Amino acid sequence: MVKSTQSPLRVSSLKIKDLCLAFRISGRKVFHKEPERCPYCNSDEGFCGIEILGAHNGPLFWECESCLRRLLRFTEKTTIKKVKSTNELYYDLEKMEEDLWLEIPN
Ligand SMILES: [Zn+2]
Repeated sequence: MVKSTQSPLRVSSLKIKDLCLAFRISGRKVFHKEPERCPYCNSDEGFCGIEILGAHNGPLFWECESCLRRLLRFTEKTTIKKVKSTNELYYDLEKMEEDLWLEIPN
């Protein structure tokens, strides 16, 4: 199963600390493949892939079905790069909204 969410981060100087906080990531260990057991609660119930819209076509994090802790799927550097790429998307959306407002007659 894959859950999609939007990035709550809009800063250009994104740090892994902020990212982990915002996405509730536990630890900095990287799991390229879905782990068989949760390293925190040792559950084998499986993981849910967390997808960030616009960041990557596929899950960016793993969420334990049992304790709901999240794990990194990519290295810190790659994760930051991918999340940062969503900022441009937001910018475009905001710009579009501004333009729409301008068109509304007073
Ligand atoms: Zn767990």
